Amino acid sequence: MSGESLVDLIAELPSGAVVCDLDVVGGYRSDMASLVPAGQPIAVVRPTTTEEVSRTLAWASRTGTVVIPRGAGTGLSGGANARDGCIVLSLERMSAIRRVDPRNHTVVVEAGVVNAEVTRAVGEFGLFYPPDPGSFEVSTIGGNLATNAGGMRCVKYGVTRQSVLGLEVVLADGRVLCAGGQTMKNVAGLDLTQLMIGSEGALGVITSATLRVRPQPAATATFVASFDTLAQGSEALEGIFASQVTPSVLEILDRHTINAVEDHQRMDLDRDAALLVIGQTDGPEAGAEIERLVGACEVAGASVAVSTTDPAEAHLFMQARRLAGWVVMEAGPTVIEDVAVPRTRVGELLAHVDTISREVGIPIATVGHAGDGNLHPMLRLPDHSGESRRLGLDAADRICAAAISLDGTITGEHGIGELKREHLHHQLDTVSLDVQSAIKAALDPSGILNPGRGF
Ligand SMILES: Cc1cc2nc3c(=O)[nH]c(=O)nc-3n(C[C@H](O)[C@H](O)[C@H](O)COP(=O)(O)OP(=O)(O)OC[C@H]3O[C@@H](n4cnc5c(N)ncnc54)[C@H](O)[C@@H]3O)c2cc1C
Repeated sequence: MSGESLVDLIAELPSGAVVCDLDVVGGYRSDMASLVPAGQPIAVVRPTTTEEVSRTLAWASRTGTVVIPRGAGTGLSGGANARDGCIVLSLERMSAIRRVDPRNHTVVVEAGVVNAEVTRAVGEFGLFYPPDPGSFEVSTIGGNLATNAGGMRCVKYGVTRQSVLGLEVVLADGRVLCAGGQTMKNVAGLDLTQLMIGSEGALGVITSATLRVRPQPAATATFVASFDTLAQGSEALEGIFASQVTPSVLEILDRHTINAVEDHQRMDLDRDAALLVIGQTDGPEAGAEIERLVGACEVAGASVAVSTTDPAEAHLFMQARRLAGWVVMEAGPTVIEDVAVPRTRVGELLAHVDTISREVGIPIATVGHAGDGNLHPMLRLPDHSGESRRLGLDAADRICAAAISLDGTITGEHGIGELKREHLHHQLDTVSLDVQSAIKAALDPSGILNPGRGF
């Protein structure tokens, strides 16, 4: 270990890049996960170039300082939470869109670019960037890549990793890795691009990415259907999965969530419905396809099932879903869970969550990307007390166990972070854990990068 200190890093970087003011630093201590402890960083480093990231990591390796990479801090697993004595490396000032290539359907962006900005930048060329986490107006591409974020459109267009061609990543020792490239196909060497995606800041710091964008669909159609019972809603999902139609969106909201949204903003949603299913189709056959999905809902006994091709009306339907996570979090202490099962088992998972809610004694409002089998049971805690925390952790443990028992996973898109470190050992066997440790040791031998997170 060198005899260097933070003063040496401050001297190496441009003025203002290293922030030590405790009030400012305090704002970078945690992400949006409740129940997850956060430490006290010694500084926040806000580089503007890859070179500055490289110098920071080389300094951190020499001094053995833990580095917590950070995008917008919207993560829900504590993955960006600080540890005592660490530096938080915020990519927020690396927010340039470097190049749009409309003919090759690619865009090169820096890690701090907000997700929604990518679609805005390519929109004028009739293109869009499909991955759309609920946080898309605030979360960064770097954070999306590091968590392999999902979203509503992933059911048709795939999660973040399906829209990435290449990455620039700074390794723990400060070297810059260029992985992948600009091409749709590329099998030169091991796929280090895909290795980095979803690695939660524990293998390297992503500084830029070449993303794949797609032509905007010619038409879209949207439906919404209400069900009096979870069983009917689940049957409708089964019918949709059997319909041979690939929706571009297929989302659900349960009764607790419907009421939270309605309390926040009147939308005339059916407060008594057990489940609301919202779906979209796109492309030339959108209208005909949506009718097949509505038909599946009617067969399952929907109390209401309506469709529209009017974009303004569709926006309202989608808005109910987009607001859900935010309004439930705003209403009180909430732990947003994230589990996934084979999609035909969504109904069973919903039934488990209902039972867990009653047994543990806390309300659980569930939303989800039903088309991907990915649900977010949102645990609504009575307060911030230790007893509430215990109940929340108990419910979360049971939900993860239920997902595993249904051949699912303890996290579909939010990542392991700090929140699910213990659960990972319930899902992965020792061979898998050994391989992951070996990869970590090879890329970050001194263990400075987001230690203990991800795997
Ligand atoms: C209301 C709401 C809705 C949400 N909906 C969704 C959803 O639909 N789908 C979904 O997947 N997620 C969702 N999320 C979770 C969250 O927004 C995503 O995980 C998002 O990808 C995090 O991006 P961020 O920029 O905020 O990253 P942060 O929270 O800052 O960081 C997330 C992780 O990535 C690492 N990291 C960040 N930047 C880099 C980088 N440049 N290089 C290396 N590592 C890095 C961090 O260390 C941390 O481990 C939602 C969150 C909220 C609050």
